[in-house]
Amino acid sequence: CFLTLEGLDGAGKSTHVLGLVEHLRGRGLDVVCTREPGGTEMGEALRQIVLSRPMQLETELLLMFAARCEHLRTVIEPALRAGKWVVCDRFTDASYAYQGGGRGLGAERVGALEQWVHPHLQPDRTWLFDVPLATARERLARSRDLDRFEQEGADFFERTRAAYHERARLHPDRFRVLDSSRDIEEVRAELIAQAMELEQA
Ligand code: C5P
Repeated sequence: CFLTLEGLDGAGKSTHVLGLVEHLRGRGLDVVCTREPGGTEMGEALRQIVLSRPMQLETELLLMFAARCEHLRTVIEPALRAGKWVVCDRFTDASYAYQGGGRGLGAERVGALEQWVHPHLQPDRTWLFDVPLATARERLARSRDLDRFEQEGADFFERTRAAYHERARLHPDRFRVLDSSRDIEEVRAELIAQAMELEQA
C-alpha cells in the first residue's frame, strides 16, 4: 500500500507523517517511511542542491524527477513488491503543485515526466493537508531557517495551493483533503480513521 502526504509548507504534514507511521507500525504493519525530495543518498544530495541554489525552473523540475526516479527504483518499488507499506512525505503531486503551479511550468510538462518515470504507479491514497494561505505563512514565520521555496511570496503559495486543489479535484478516488487548520489531534484522528479503512480494504 502506497500512501503519500501533501500540502503547503506549514500545513503540519510532517507531524502527521510521524503519527500515521506510528499508528501503522502499532498495527503490526511493515512500514517504510520516506520523503521527497530525498529518500536515498543521491536524493538527499539533490535535495540539498535544489533547496539551496537558484536554478532554471526546468532544471528544478528535472532534478525533482531525477531524485524521484532513484527513490522509486531503489526504495519505493522494491518495498511495495515485498508487500510493505510505504508512507512518503510528498510525491509527484508536489511537482504538479510547486513546479507546475507555483513555478508556472504547467501540468503538461509535469505529466510528461510522470509518464516517463512512473507510468503505472500511483499512490493508493494521498492526503492533502489543507490550510488557508495565511495560516501556513503564519506557522512558517515562526519556524526554523526557511529554504528557498519557503521564502517565496504569497502569490507563489497561492498558485501552489490552487494546483494541489486541482489535483484533488481530478483524482477524487485517490485524494482525501483534510482541513489542517484544526487542532492537530482532531486532524490526526481523521487521518487515522481513513487509514484504517485502507487496512480493512
Ligand atoms: O516537505 P518538505 O519541507 O520536506 O519540502 C522541502 C521543500 O521542497 C519545501 O519547501 C517544498 O516547498 C519544496 N518542494 C518543491 N517541489 C517538490 C517537493 C518539495 O518545491 N516537488
